[in-house]
Amino acid sequence: MATQVHITVGSQVWVEDPDVAWIDGEVIEVNGDEIEIKCTSGKSVVAKVSNVYPKDAEASPCGVDDMTRLAYLHEPGVLQNLRSRYDMNEIYTYVGSILIAVNPFRRLPHLYDKHMMEQYKGAALGDLNPHPFAVADAAYRLMMRDRVSQAILVSGESGAGKTESTKMLMRYLAYMGGRAETEGRTVEQQVLESNPVLEAFGNAKTVRNNNSSRFGKFVEIQFDESGRISGAAIRTYLLERSRVCQISDPERNYHCFYMLCAAPPEDIERFKMGDPRMFHYLNQSNCFELDDVDDSKEYLDTRRAMDIVGISPDEQDAIFRVVAAILHLGNVEFSEGEETDSSVLKDEKSQFHLKTAAELFMCDDKALEDSLCKRVIVTRGESIVKNLNPEAAVLSRDALAKIVYSRLFDWLVNKINCSIGQDPHSKFLIGVLDIYGFESFKTNSFEQFCINLTNEKLQQHFNQHVFKMEQEEYTKEEIDWSYIEFIDNQDILDLIEKKPGGIIALLDETCMLPRSTHETFAQKLYQTFKDHPRFSKPKFSQSGFTIHHYAGDVTYQTELFLDKNKDYVVNEHQALLNASECHFVSSLFPLLSEDSSKSSKFSSIGLRFKQQLQTLLETLSATEPHYVRCVKPNNLLKPAIFENSNVIQQLRCGGVLEAIRISCAGYPTRRTFDEFVDRFGVLAPEIIKESSDEVITSKRILEKVDLRGYQVSEAKEPASKLDAALEKSPLLIWVM
Ligand code: ATP
Ligand code: MG
Repeated sequence: MATQVHITVGSQVWVEDPDVAWIDGEVIEVNGDEIEIKCTSGKSVVAKVSNVYPKDAEASPCGVDDMTRLAYLHEPGVLQNLRSRYDMNEIYTYVGSILIAVNPFRRLPHLYDKHMMEQYKGAALGDLNPHPFAVADAAYRLMMRDRVSQAILVSGESGAGKTESTKMLMRYLAYMGGRAETEGRTVEQQVLESNPVLEAFGNAKTVRNNNSSRFGKFVEIQFDESGRISGAAIRTYLLERSRVCQISDPERNYHCFYMLCAAPPEDIERFKMGDPRMFHYLNQSNCFELDDVDDSKEYLDTRRAMDIVGISPDEQDAIFRVVAAILHLGNVEFSEGEETDSSVLKDEKSQFHLKTAAELFMCDDKALEDSLCKRVIVTRGESIVKNLNPEAAVLSRDALAKIVYSRLFDWLVNKINCSIGQDPHSKFLIGVLDIYGFESFKTNSFEQFCINLTNEKLQQHFNQHVFKMEQEEYTKEEIDWSYIEFIDNQDILDLIEKKPGGIIALLDETCMLPRSTHETFAQKLYQTFKDHPRFSKPKFSQSGFTIHHYAGDVTYQTELFLDKNKDYVVNEHQALLNASECHFVSSLFPLLSEDSSKSSKFSSIGLRFKQQLQTLLETLSATEPHYVRCVKPNNLLKPAIFENSNVIQQLRCGGVLEAIRISCAGYPTRRTFDEFVDRFGVLAPEIIKESSDEVITSKRILEKVDLRGYQVSEAKEPASKLDAALEKSPLLIWVM
């Protein structure tokens, strides 16, 4: 990297700082490999030369909009650049063709209006300010020009702005591919209106984001020959089910529950709703309202959006009846029955809620009660009815609530897809991926495990792509690149998903064995992977395990892994709801034929998720990818606060620093011949006089100063798009 630049007394440098990550200062003494620096904060520090980076004294205070054009492409330079732009509300910046978006946490409506979209239409990437519209436009034009599908991958941690960016990308694509003059429900309108519907049922307030998506999403927009939108498909990944019955302060359950509690009086009556504070599934947290959100307005807006995506009023009523039923179900409590280890409804209140839930589900209330308090066990052709104790009955109740909600969500996605319709003749598509970023919390469970697997896969895809592009550029420039290496995370992927023997496979095996526990699962992991460089057993834990992910170490607690991985519906629940008099409810629980119920006796969430990811990556690998990396500048969700260490960590996890490292491992500094002669001609004024050919002059200057580690490219066409826009002459690639 650029550290080799000579540092002397008086040099402007960056040095590591425990508080602000990097601080700038001036070198006041050089002592072998130790350097003393007077920092701008006033304090003096001594640092090793290898920990000090040169600062570009001529850098513009406004920063540059493409960081590959920074004089020094290193961590502090990147950070400083993002920060000075953020201070001026310039929230978008490129690293080559990657767009970095720093969440402003304030509305900037002028940035996204119709006028802006018009400006970006057809403009070359780099001509205008960095913007999601520019990325969408580039994708659209590449698709039209090369007739190749494109994908825009939006990533970042919770609250970084993925969903907001995704919506802008979709809006721009709808604008480009829409039929302005058509009236009524157009495909593009339906695509856009799927967002509020899915957000109502799949988003919730969390500690990290007031509107956090609790599922991953890949939207495929299909186009016809002339570039008009002709169909779309939405795929969703891994909705967080546990939230339906378990929340903690200050989070909320899914938005739709609160919307329904704030519905107009006639709907409140029809759905037997009331104050959200009376429902157990909502009152486990003290947060019921959101700042700046009016749930009663959201209810009407959601209904309107449902109209547009083709959900009929009857279907809407059925959906909200199910939502209401879930809330009443949650209020059913149990106490010990007369027989040991049996349970009965706790009191009249519980009886009322059970009756109401049954009414809303349109099923028999006695059958509902039995399905919660009893299990039928079939052994050797004989069925025995077993009572459940009150704790088990509560678990059964929650399992029912979760499965109903997750089926409801899948139904919505499926319905939206059917009514938008897929275009079987579509030749190409643009996919937009809005999926959870890398997660590492105090306690990490199965969800984090799946999320981090996703990120490992996407990281591999990203590295391969960035690396490939870099290689292509060098090949085009006829430059030797063979020594650039890049870190492959295949070993982590093998650890997790290798079949047989990976963690997911071992988890499935454990789930299928009777009497296995999370402890036996953990022991199996310890034995199998004791020598795996990416795996370790935490010192003070008997059931946790640590994976050394590309973005850092994460320790997972296995306690709930087995339960969360099992994807089965209790037979009693299945039979109960299949028999519902409401067609909508019974269609959520279709009867399985004997055969299929046997063959799919065991299906696991982990395995299904792994397969979904596989399909996603296959789709992605057939596309030309574009990347948007969202960054959350602070955890307070407030404007104008930019926390250096926080941002650096995200750039690292998002692979931005790795992308920079890959370009640094090659030839990070690229100068055109004119620029080179201009800037370094002073080193050899006599050579300049001799020849007017810039290529020859450049080569002679290089020979004269005896510089090493450079290459001269004489390819006729500059390889990179941005360079092409800037300069017609061949490039000189040069490294110090
Ligand atoms: P999660 O993973 O939790 O779903 P996310 O990355 O999708 O998070 P968003 O919901 O897109 O995050 O953004 C969080 C909040 O940040 C938004 O609700 C909005 O208030 C604000 N925000 C994000 N991007 C922008 C933007 N470009 N302009 C204004 N506000 C924004
Ligand atoms: Mg989101």
